[in-house]
Amino acid sequence: MNPGPAPHPVPSAGRPSIALDLGGRTALVTGAAGGIGRACALRLAAAGAKVRAVDREAAGLDTLVEQALGMGLAGAVEPHVLDLTDLDAAEDAAAGTDVLVNNAGLQLVRPIEEFPPDVFHTVLTVMLEAPFRLIRGALPQMYAQGWGRIVNVSSVHGLRASAFKSAYVAAKHGLEGLSKTAALEGAAHGVTSNCVNPGYVRTPLVEKQIADQAAAHDIPQERVLTEVLLKDSALKRLIEPEEVAEAVAYLCTPQASFVTGTSFVLDGGWTAH
Ligand code: NAD
Repeated sequence: MNPGPAPHPVPSAGRPSIALDLGGRTALVTGAAGGIGRACALRLAAAGAKVRAVDREAAGLDTLVEQALGMGLAGAVEPHVLDLTDLDAAEDAAAGTDVLVNNAGLQLVRPIEEFPPDVFHTVLTVMLEAPFRLIRGALPQMYAQGWGRIVNVSSVHGLRASAFKSAYVAAKHGLEGLSKTAALEGAAHGVTSNCVNPGYVRTPLVEKQIADQAAAHDIPQERVLTEVLLKDSALKRLIEPEEVAEAVAYLCTPQASFVTGTSFVLDGGWTAH
């Protein structure tokens, strides 16, 4: 489904980005072939970082590299095709990074009694165990230099549950705990760890779940956006991937050095209820 144009203008659209200089830094972004991950990879590359762009989708990584080229960022993005269920390879890939953005994710919308156990296992592997292994791989370099930034792309579903999303909600709640633990352990080493928690973002992950949501809630697809996805959001629009990337960038700034162990919520007022 194409959610269509935002019903309200995006106030941040076209505005200058926050000041961030990552010159000389290496950043690893998972799930960089599309959606939020691609926006984060481009944002960090624009700030001067050398970006290791990890995803299992080679074609999407090629598009990312082309986009970076188009932005005058030749050589800034290094594609790394990797399935994160290969946990040893994930840990190895994170060695030598200064900034780690754990972003890759997947979703399946099903009642628990119909939820395939193998999919539950895969969701937990990609969205919780792989971030643990990536953090484990990144920390030695971060600790050695006394500086590091870990940003975990969680969700409102790291803080709230929704029916029919058992694996996703469990993984995101787990990621919140992992992120806070990394914050406590990293504090003495100049390493911060935080979550960002968007509501519904205009990405393929959301577009792909419209049909499933319609079936699970027994309503037509055209009513899913307003009656299910944005039901609890005070702002009745999807958030753009670039807005999430800006929040990720903020957490990497020197001004955010005291921000750790927290969850930066961008939910249009969802959790204000
Ligand atoms: P997306 O589907 O556009 O991108 C996810 C990326 O992860 C894809 O490129 C996919 O190939 C990659 N990926 C999935 N499994 C992988 C694996 N085993 N190995 C390597 N790569 C793999 O989704 P998105 O909306 O950009 O989501 C990115 C993150 O943001 C996810 O963690 C998601 O939970 C989170 N999030 C999304 C929304 C939303 O509304 N879209 C809201 C809150 C949080």
